[in-house]
Amino acid sequence: MNDNSLAHAPVFVVGAGIMGAGIAQVAAQAGHAVRLFDLRPGAAEAAKGQLADTLAGLVAKGKLNADAAQQTLARITPADAMAQADGCGLVVEAIVEQLQAKRALFAELESIVGPGCVLATNTSSISVTAIAAGLQHPGRVVGMHFFNPVPLMKLVEVVSGLQTDPAVAAAIFGLSQAWGKVPVHAKSTPGFIVNRIARPYYAEALALLQEQAATPAVLDACLRGAGFRMGPCELMDLIGHDTNFAVTKSVYEANFQDKRYVPSGVQAEMVAGGLLGRKSSQGFYRYLGGKPEGGALPVAVTEAPATAREVSVHGTGPIADFLEQAATAALAAQGWGPARHHDSGWTGLQIDGARLMLSDGRTATELAAATGCRDIAVFDRPVALTADKPPSPGTALAYAAAAGCSEAFATQAAAWLAALGFAPLPLADAPGLVVARTVAMLVNEAADAVQQGVCSEADADAAMTLGVNYPAGPFDFLRRWSAREVTALLDTLDAHYRGERYRVSPLLRRRAC
Ligand code: NAD
Repeated sequence: MNDNSLAHAPVFVVGAGIMGAGIAQVAAQAGHAVRLFDLRPGAAEAAKGQLADTLAGLVAKGKLNADAAQQTLARITPADAMAQADGCGLVVEAIVEQLQAKRALFAELESIVGPGCVLATNTSSISVTAIAAGLQHPGRVVGMHFFNPVPLMKLVEVVSGLQTDPAVAAAIFGLSQAWGKVPVHAKSTPGFIVNRIARPYYAEALALLQEQAATPAVLDACLRGAGFRMGPCELMDLIGHDTNFAVTKSVYEANFQDKRYVPSGVQAEMVAGGLLGRKSSQGFYRYLGGKPEGGALPVAVTEAPATAREVSVHGTGPIADFLEQAATAALAAQGWGPARHHDSGWTGLQIDGARLMLSDGRTATELAAATGCRDIAVFDRPVALTADKPPSPGTALAYAAAAGCSEAFATQAAAWLAALGFAPLPLADAPGLVVARTVAMLVNEAADAVQQGVCSEADADAAMTLGVNYPAGPFDFLRRWSAREVTALLDTLDAHYRGERYRVSPLLRRRAC
């Protein structure tokens, strides 16, 4: 088998649900003859009918040529028996997510298809090794994990089980490219790449909600401010808490109850109560007529910072450089600018005797105790900021004041962040605030996946940007930050919470040296 050997193969798609119908469409659009089978009588015909409507809509809007639409449809034949898999070069199954059902299906197919036929599974959570176990030719079983909606999402995780023939994985990789997708190789481990690395995006928000650090609306605004298309709470509402909770539980169980992946009591309670998100009209938000309610943010800060005697900018790197520029602009009206100190060991602003410090993982209260400075506030990491890209004005950014901080400085901290161009959002004094801890944990999970041979760094980045639309891949985030600082932040969280969740990946710790 070579990378091109499936180029013209007839394809048998089993399961004509959301995913199977999409896979059949993509294969047909790429020129394959497709036979679509479903256990439910009439389901394959119905899926073809639905596709005809979709394609007609695209033709009407001028987005698709009428001939191309006609040819795509003509290539799809609803099948009424599994025996029609005979003569196909590839089977892609998208049936119910149950190990026994998938095993039984492939065992039956082995008696129908020829020896060269590849058996691909679209499973999102079951071990490819387990699906292949007991078959006569387990080497031809491979994961071909598409994302929903299949015609639009570019990513395909090509998942190899212990017995998958590397030539089969390479052929599916090449075929995915020919279908216009961006494939990545993954080892069959719990959650593969995307569903594993994404766990902390939800888990950190749920942990912050559990300790009453902020409202869902504040958490969502902070992560949208960091460039994520949707905040974690609105995203869990969209996915459905039952589905999201089931994936978290399956990754947790498959890792032998590693506390790193422990599900959240906050979400368990929502699932138990039927608060499943958009589908039940109530999750973190209430959905009336499809529009979310309950997302009010604290009143925006409008006042300018009080006049100070002395302002200095501390630290090195793009964030400190940006602070210097923005503070210079903020003070220009008063006819003076801030001093700059490069080697003070922290990043932020000193305003007379008070400090507004970039979070290094320690709470403002811990920093106040360590420095002996009472008036301290910490602000979240503006991760979207790079040397040539300042944050867009009004970017949401969390901040927290130390327990003993004066009311006056807590107000000044918000006024200064607003003057620097951010929309400051108050948070309880939680370590690592919102974005810093979430992004650090995404980086940590990705580092572990690479360390364990699940995927390469480049594939982790491609998977997270194409599979879940992250604004940057975890290793892109790491390049903008530093392994030493991420490790230090995670160690601080680890010391604060004392558990396995913030255990630093060996790969990250090695890089930090
Ligand atoms: P679905 O319920 O929409 O469709 C499944 C279809 O398979 C149904 O039409 C059902 O009648 C049919 N079916 C069940 N058992 C069968 C059998 N033994 N033989 C033939 N047909 C059978 O489900 P879906 O969302 O399309 O998911 C299908 C697979 O894709 C699952 O393994 C799922 O984990 C995976 N997946 C789903 C998504 C998603 O977002 N929905 C994303 C990636 C992967």
